[in-house]
Order: sequence, then structure tokens, then C-alpha cells
Amino acid sequence: MHTIDMNLVEMTLDVMKYAIDRISNITPELGSPKKEEELLEMVGETITDEGIGGEKAFKLFRDVLVKATVPIDHPRHLAFVPAAPTRAAIMFDLVTSASSIHGAYWMEGAGGIFCENQAMKWLVSIAGLPEGSFGVFTSGGTVANLSAMVAAREEWRSRSTYNIGIKGLVLVSQGAHSSVEAMAKVMDADLIKIDSKGDFLTGEELQAGIAELQEKDRKRLFAVVATGGTTNAGIIDDLAGIAPVCEKEHVWLHVDCAYGGGALAARSVRHLFNGIEKADSITIDPHKWLFSPYDCGAVLYKNMELAKNAHSQKGAYLEIFKDEGAQGFNPADYQIQLTRRIRGMPLWFSLAMHGTEKYRSAIERGIELAKIAARKIEERPYLEMVRPESLSVVLFRRKGWTAEQYRDWTYRNHKEGIALVTPTIWKNETISRFCFINPDTTEADIDLILETLK
Ligand SMILES: *Cc1c(COP(=O)(O)O)cnc(C)c1O
Repeated sequence: MHTIDMNLVEMTLDVMKYAIDRISNITPELGSPKKEEELLEMVGETITDEGIGGEKAFKLFRDVLVKATVPIDHPRHLAFVPAAPTRAAIMFDLVTSASSIHGAYWMEGAGGIFCENQAMKWLVSIAGLPEGSFGVFTSGGTVANLSAMVAAREEWRSRSTYNIGIKGLVLVSQGAHSSVEAMAKVMDADLIKIDSKGDFLTGEELQAGIAELQEKDRKRLFAVVATGGTTNAGIIDDLAGIAPVCEKEHVWLHVDCAYGGGALAARSVRHLFNGIEKADSITIDPHKWLFSPYDCGAVLYKNMELAKNAHSQKGAYLEIFKDEGAQGFNPADYQIQLTRRIRGMPLWFSLAMHGTEKYRSAIERGIELAKIAARKIEERPYLEMVRPESLSVVLFRRKGWTAEQYRDWTYRNHKEGIALVTPTIWKNETISRFCFINPDTTEADIDLILETLK
């Protein structure tokens, strides 16, 4: 398999041509899913004893299968949290694969981990964490949240033998992402959502929520998870109020900024995150609002030793890495994964190439697009805003529409290749939602979508 023959060279050129064409195309066809049986009918079985050949396999992918996917970077893909990886980052993602670097330990991955750490240094600086804070890249926000919560629980367990035998408890705000609850389940920890009067959790509400706990539950409390930009509405909890409460109560504060983390670099909204610099850990997803290809999440810690206590793996065959010459930063020590793609490298290359100011303005553009969309919605008599836009999320209503009408509209637009915009639920009502990430989305794109709501 290792000899390079002419077929492989030709294949490589085909693949590279496809990759170049794809990243040059800023309005790719908006594909949509097909039933598995339909796809099988179209391509046939692809794994055979003899192999079907690279040329054929690639053709099936290029001409059939990729068309049954939604390009997440389409400028009128405004559903969920879309993406817009930079060309530089995508190109370097290819390089990351081609370089075959193991990202767990410095001994094998030093040069690549150096790149990641350069990018991480910038993430730590926009978060404003104190000296000594650092972090690692993960496969995404879910794993970053899990890694942080495991570190928090370990710290709590290490305080008292009483804590070893009992189930831990996490307090979260109303807008907490589903992954926080899912990961609490993975850890077999309990989770309580604290009600808030307004749209975000305040320090007083957290204080009251802790005071209401029974003595035995108060003892089980090992972390508070606040959100720095809810996925549904872009809402940021009152971090400046929450952080001092956590400090006073000696409870680990994790801030989930998987979606909103990019906005830490946006000067126009940075003040909304004040207090985040006091967090014990933070999740940021570069594959959301920092223009990295999938997958790239990040977890940042104020105290790296505490993360290491929780995550460092021991094994006979791993002892060599503790040897001299291999001394350095070992990403495996700070999150749940061992063998690891150097997934921060595409972000590093793109940041190095463009500089951080370009990033700041591309993120500001998402915030500006939300403001523009809000204005355009208010201008149309058949539409209205549900609440003010927040970060790059816009929640709005088509007056008089039912949940079914929103759903039909979503499918119609998707099927016709116009746009992917999905409804959401806000205070028990089905409404529509935009989430802007892609700085190439235009005002004309927004108009085009709003016209389909008439
Ligand atoms: C997307 C998101 C997550 C989950 O991140 P993945 O990268 O999808 O694993 C967690 N929290 C928030 C706030 C998110 O927006």
C-alpha cells in the first residue's frame, strides 16, 4: 500500500482538484438528505473483496453522495449553528492529515502541539484568564464540557473522603446546552436547572438556588455551569454576578461558550462576558464561530494541575513519555481523549496567516448581520421580532403562523435549494430563528429568505 504508483498520483490530483474547486465555491449547491435505500440504489455496495477502485469510489462520492449532504458553509444556511471555515484552515486540515502527527504527547507531536498552543494562547487571552491558565483542543463542545466537569468533580472529590462515595451535583442555568445534561448523565452526576426571572441567570438567583439546596445536596454540589451565549437565543448569563458567588461558595465555575466563544474577540460585545476571567474552566468551539473545519473544540482551565489530576492516564506502555527529551505539554493529560488528531492546527495556520484582527472583524460581521436582519424583520408588516437579537442569533415570528406552517416552509426552502432555516421554540411558541456565522452572507440573502415568509 505504500508504493506510490501513477494511479495514486492521478487520484491525488483528482482529489486536490475537487478540494480546490469546493473551497473556491462560496455558494455550493444546498444538498438534502435521501433515504439510505435510495442512496444504496444509486451507488451499489462499495465495500467488496477486490475493491471498486479509487476512481469509481471517488466519482460516487463526488457525483452522488456529497449531494445528499448539506454544506454547512452555505451563506443561506442559518439553522442550528452553521459554520464558515476559512480556506486557509481547510487547506491546512488536509496538511494536518497528510502530516500524520499523533496529538497526545509532546514526544511525538511537539511541532504540531506547538502550533496548537500558539492558537490556544490567543484563546486564553481573549477569555482574559489569569497567568498560568491554558487549555487543549478537543473534538467539540460536548467533550470539552465533559472534560471540564470531570476535572471539577475530581477537585471536589479530592477535598474530602466523604465526597468519594457520593453522587455529585451540578447546577446549570435555564439555557444550558443539551450536552451539559447529557454529559452529567455520562458522569452519573445529578443536575438541577435554576429558574431565572429574566432571560439569563443572575448572581442573586444562583445564590438563592444554592441557599435552597438541602444540606446533603449542598455537600454534593461540585460545579455551576453558566452559558456564554445560549445556542437557541445567544443569551449570556450574568457572569460578573455568578463568578463571585461561586468563589464565595467554593464551587467550580464552568462557562460553556461553545457557540458564543468567538464573540470574546468582538470588541462591541466583549463587555457582556465580563466575569468570565474568573471562571475555572471555559468551553469554546473553534468549529463554530472561529472558522475552523470540523471538528475542533477547546477546553480552557484556570488551573492546569487540577485538570491533569483528573485526566492524566497511567499505563505501562505510556511511561516512556514521562522520560527526558519527551518533556513538554501533553494534551492527553487535560481532556478525556488519548490518541488525538492535532485538530487545532488548521486554526493555528489560519490565525497565523490572517492575523487576529481579521478574525475580530469577521465575527463582528456576524453580529452586524443579526442587527441588519432585525431591522429588515421590523420593516416587514408580516414579521416581528420575538426578542432583541443577541450575539448573532435572531428570534422572530411570522405573524399568524402555526408550527406546521414553519415546518412546511423550512422543508420547501430546503427542497428548492433556497435556504436552510429551521424553526425553534421560545417560551412554548414555535418561531423562526437565524444564526449568523458566515461573513459572506449578504443582505440580499436575508431579503431573499424573508420574502419566502410572505
Ligand atoms: C454546540 C454547543 C455545544 C456542543 O458542542 P459540540 O461541538 O456540538 O459537541 C455545547 N454547548 C453549547 C453552548 C453549544 O452551542
